[in-house]
Amino acid sequence: MTVISAIRGARDLLPGDLPRWRRAERAAERCFALYGYGEIRTPVLERAELFARQLGEHTELVEKQMYLFADGDGGDTLALRPEATVPTVRAALQSGMHRNLPARLWYRGAMFRRERPQRGRYRQFWQIGAEILGAQSPSADAEQILLTARLWRELGVDGRLRLAVNNLGDGEERARHREKLREHFRANAAEMGEDAARAETNPLRLLESRDAKTAAVARDAPKLSDELGDASRKHSDAVCESLTRAGVAFSQDETLVRGLDYYNLTVFEWSLAGDDRRQNALCGGGRYDGLSQQIGGPPMPGCGFALGLDRLVDLLAEPPRETPDCFLTLTEECAREFAGELAEHCRDAGLTVWRHIGGGNLARQLKKADAAGAKTALIIGSREAAARRVTIKRMSDGDQREAEFAKAPAQIKAAIAGDGVRDGDGDGGNNNDDSVN
Ligand code: AMP
Repeated sequence: MTVISAIRGARDLLPGDLPRWRRAERAAERCFALYGYGEIRTPVLERAELFARQLGEHTELVEKQMYLFADGDGGDTLALRPEATVPTVRAALQSGMHRNLPARLWYRGAMFRRERPQRGRYRQFWQIGAEILGAQSPSADAEQILLTARLWRELGVDGRLRLAVNNLGDGEERARHREKLREHFRANAAEMGEDAARAETNPLRLLESRDAKTAAVARDAPKLSDELGDASRKHSDAVCESLTRAGVAFSQDETLVRGLDYYNLTVFEWSLAGDDRRQNALCGGGRYDGLSQQIGGPPMPGCGFALGLDRLVDLLAEPPRETPDCFLTLTEECAREFAGELAEHCRDAGLTVWRHIGGGNLARQLKKADAAGAKTALIIGSREAAARRVTIKRMSDGDQREAEFAKAPAQIKAAIAGDGVRDGDGDGGNNNDDSVN
């Protein structure tokens, strides 16, 4: 039999994987709460036109990586979202949030890009991201970077990441720079690699070219920083000052352009220190003051970031495994109903109870309890069922006590808390003291 497998670049996340994911997600949720972000969930499917122009017609993402399909005969062309900033801004506008700004929003979800799959690069991957809408001040950019820095500290990965920032200027400054770049690449086309033709459509992309010849020409290219005016410089200086004051180390990297067209002024990226491979970018973001108008909304400045959960989780240590408070054994069929009732009773009191499934004698079931890492085993046979009692065995030292149904949860909690066997034990080493509460 051949099982139909998942598609390349799409992964199953199994119960054994998920504790680390949940750890990352919970830490992010805590950070968002500290800064006053509300969660937003937007559809996975959007109209393709929402992305094409905003991300940039000539970006790799739009040209090659979007999953597109027609919604039935003659229907709209739809896209699986490749990112969530544009949908978040769309949703904010559509729901009227722009009338009550600023808005701080965060999201978590699967994104889809038809990339060449490899470790750390998937076709379905997960992002957590955040946007501040309606804030023009550089303190908004800085606040978001500080939030990400706090998250790395929470997760204990801060020492492994480095931060690069750059200033992309405003639209006019970028247009001037693009024109100068085109001229530079045109003038040097003969020495460039196969990607030279890109100079006309998206010369910025050539600055990140992996072709050695093009990269050599790109090294002498005109710099955007030479085109920046006072306002752009002031904004970026203020962001950098805030970072310095907060003790967040960063480097200014003029080659950091980010792949998408909607950015202006601040862009930033966190990546693995000491590793220059592209797929080691962990988190990227920046300002997108023109995005709202591009999708038909009113002027609404904004900035945001997205972090790659798949890559972040790779850095996290395995958290301690989750183990049950109780493992419920069952050796006699006649006790089954009472066992089920007791399990629900314990769960009502907040105890985790895993029930044994299948047969086997008590010794075998206790072995399973041990393998599960259970703190206690609950033993119920015909005698216990008839008397509506349970034997509680503490797995760490074998301490055993008995409790009546009503007091079982309190006794189990006491056993887990480490209360020893008291004097005056009943038969067979059982502790019949039901008085613990
Ligand atoms: P971007 O939206 O391209 O700025 O990506 C933001 C973050 O998402 C990156 O820094 C990565 O951590 C993550 N990311 C982007 N593309 C992928 C992918 N194909 N597979 C896994 N993670 C990705």
